[in-house]
Amino acid sequence: MAEPQHIRITKLDEVVINKIAAGECWLLTMTHSCLDFGQIIQRPANAIKELIENSLDAGSTTITITVKDGGLKILQIQDNGHGINKDDLPLVCERFATSKIKQFEDLETIDTYGFRGEALASISHVAHVTITTKTADSPCAWKYAKMKKKKILIFFIRAIYSDGIMVPAKAGGSSDAKPTAGNTGTQIMIEDLFFNVPIRKKALKGSAEEYNKIIDIITRYAIHNSSVAFTCKKVGSNSADFRSISGTTRDAIRQSYGPAIAKELIDIFHTNTELEFKLDAIVSNANFKMKKMVFLLFINHRSVESSNIKRALENLYAAFLPKNSHAFCYISLEMKPQNVDVNVHPTKKEVMFLNEDKVIEYLCETIKEKLANVNDSRMFTPAV
Ligand code: ADP
Ligand code: MG
Repeated sequence: MAEPQHIRITKLDEVVINKIAAGECWLLTMTHSCLDFGQIIQRPANAIKELIENSLDAGSTTITITVKDGGLKILQIQDNGHGINKDDLPLVCERFATSKIKQFEDLETIDTYGFRGEALASISHVAHVTITTKTADSPCAWKYAKMKKKKILIFFIRAIYSDGIMVPAKAGGSSDAKPTAGNTGTQIMIEDLFFNVPIRKKALKGSAEEYNKIIDIITRYAIHNSSVAFTCKKVGSNSADFRSISGTTRDAIRQSYGPAIAKELIDIFHTNTELEFKLDAIVSNANFKMKKMVFLLFINHRSVESSNIKRALENLYAAFLPKNSHAFCYISLEMKPQNVDVNVHPTKKEVMFLNEDKVIEYLCETIKEKLANVNDSRMFTPAV
């Protein structure tokens, strides 16, 4: 079987890099491109987001994350995606090395999260990275490590045998490798994150809080990618702290927030031709309340923040819910990328878009109507 060419990694050429850097492309507004090199990774949750996006880009259907010390000691992701070609392993952690675009024009039809080849490069500057990977047509898995000690980069490639014992092979010499029973996919292990950036490490919250932020990111991606099974656990623990099995978005919400919410959800689908957006939402009804609002917003499949939408929804629900109780809202909007602007902030992506007021008004009206209908049928008295 021939290796699919789309997974081969190449370094983007200078012209493409410069065009991307100059922001000559709408897609850049959908990413963190304005950040300086190395700035993407502020905390473990940022790293796991990049790793999850890579696993999703590789077509994975199962993603397992293992964490130690809130991700600072170990942050590991295992997927069953298409894997990385052994010959491309030395390129993976190089800046601007990507399999997702070859030329600038490819950005017009891109359907992956990544395209700039910067995430693994950034991570490898502030952590030790070890990658074990197997493509469908490779007889065995390959291991690649990029250790950063005293500013000396050492990398090596090792074959992994079916009994799990790693035997060194000549770099690139696949003939030395014996086939392994390893499944197709990739495991990326990040160790000692920020070991060489003590200031960044100091700025972090404790490991419990960093772990919660990791779980929060995983929850968002698990709900938005409900056909993918996600698991997250701590190193050495037998039980998962987060688990979603492949199913519908509602299934993923139930798995993340418990069975009580599942009975009280309203689905909303709508295509608005006038304002040019598509809405796919699942929100809680007036019979369900949370201590704090859960607001999961995706615009063109990217997890973003919008305090304007959040405020509007809080106000809307205030008329339906008892005091000090809040709603669950999962909102996925698709709109022309040209109409979206993400104002990049190191920790969150605040989004703005064309006709924002009208879209928000429409969104609130639609939800309000649905909430009122549920209210009528359940004889619930709104706390107006
Ligand atoms: P980008 O995602 O922008 O291409 P990254 O630095 O995140 O840049 O990744 C570099 C390349 O490494 C990707 O283009 C992809 O080819 C490969 N890669 C990274 N993670 C995975 C994975 N989990 N499965 C398959 N390939 C991967
Ligand atoms: Mg990426």
